[in-house]
Amino acid sequence: MIEELISKVAVGDDDAIEELSTIADTDPARLTPYLGSLLDGDVLWPATLYRAADASLVNRVVERIDGGRTPDRLNHLLLILAHSGHPLAESALRRWSTQPPAGADKLYVGALSYAREGGWTVGPDGHRRNLCGSSAYRWIMREAPRRADRPSCPWCASPLWTAADLDTADPSVGAALKHTGWSGRLVIETCHFCACYTTLYSQVTPTGDTVWWPGNTRPSYLGPAEAEDPPALTPAPGEARQSPYQASAWEQGGSTLGGQPDWIQDAEHADCPGCGQPMDYIGLIGGADLDEYGEGAYYLHLHQPCGFAAVNYQQS
Ligand SMILES: [Zn+2]
Ligand SMILES: [Zn+2]
Repeated sequence: MIEELISKVAVGDDDAIEELSTIADTDPARLTPYLGSLLDGDVLWPATLYRAADASLVNRVVERIDGGRTPDRLNHLLLILAHSGHPLAESALRRWSTQPPAGADKLYVGALSYAREGGWTVGPDGHRRNLCGSSAYRWIMREAPRRADRPSCPWCASPLWTAADLDTADPSVGAALKHTGWSGRLVIETCHFCACYTTLYSQVTPTGDTVWWPGNTRPSYLGPAEAEDPPALTPAPGEARQSPYQASAWEQGGSTLGGQPDWIQDAEHADCPGCGQPMDYIGLIGGADLDEYGEGAYYLHLHQPCGFAAVNYQQS
C-alpha cells in the first residue's frame, strides 16, 4: 500500500501525499523503509514525512547539503532534518550554525533555529531540549464555568477565557506535561480576542493562580475593541492519542493536550519573558472546536522554572 502511494506521489498525486502525511502523523516509523525513495524522487514536502528518518537517510540529507548542489532546496532539507530530530541531524545543524552551508544567505533564520520546527532547541548550556512532550490526549470541549468575579482583559475589557484548567494529579495531564516539569494545578487565562494579535503571557502557580502579565505589550495596530464574551467552552482531557503528532489546527476534534503542535504558519514557540528561552509547548485548541465557523488555532506554552504561561494564535 505504501509502495503504491509512493509511486503516485512521484507523479504528483496530492491525495497520495495527504495519505502519506496521515501515516506520518499516526505511525511515522511505517514510512522509514520508504524515505530513501521519497528523497530520490525529490519529494521533500511536507518535511513531517521524514519524522522517523534513520541514520542513513539523515546522512544522505546532510551530504546533499554539504555538497551544495541544490542550495535552492536548503530550506526543505533543513526542515527534514529538524523533524527527524536525529542526533546526526542535530550535530549537522550545530556545525552549520557556525559554518553556514551553500544557500544559507537566502534563509530567514540560522540553521540551528530550524530545530524549533521539529519541536526542539539547543539551550545556552549547549544541551538539547525537547520543547514538546511524547504523550498526547484529545482535548474535548466542555461548557466553561461562568464566574461572576472573572477578571477582564486590560486592553479590550473582554472577560478572560480559561484556555486550560489542568492538574498533574490526573495521570493523563501528568504524562502530557512531563517534559515541562510542572507539578500541581495549571490554570491559563487569556484574552481570546487579543491573543489573536500578539502572544499573551500570564504568571501561573501550581496552586492554580493565574494573572495577566503586566509586561504584555499592546501592539500599536490593535485599535479600540468592543468587549465580547469569550468562548463558552474550555477543554478537558480525553482519550490518549495514538501518537504525539495528531493535533490538527484545522479539523474538528483536532484540539490536543500535549504532543507536538500542528502549526498553520512557521513554528512559533513563544520565548519566555523570564529567561528569554523558548517555552515548552503544552497544547493546541482549534478554532473549529470552539465555534461552528471557528478558524485558526490557539497554541499554549509554559515555562515552569519561571512560572510563565503563554498563548498565541495562528491562522491561514
Ligand atoms: Zn483583550
Ligand atoms: Zn523562563
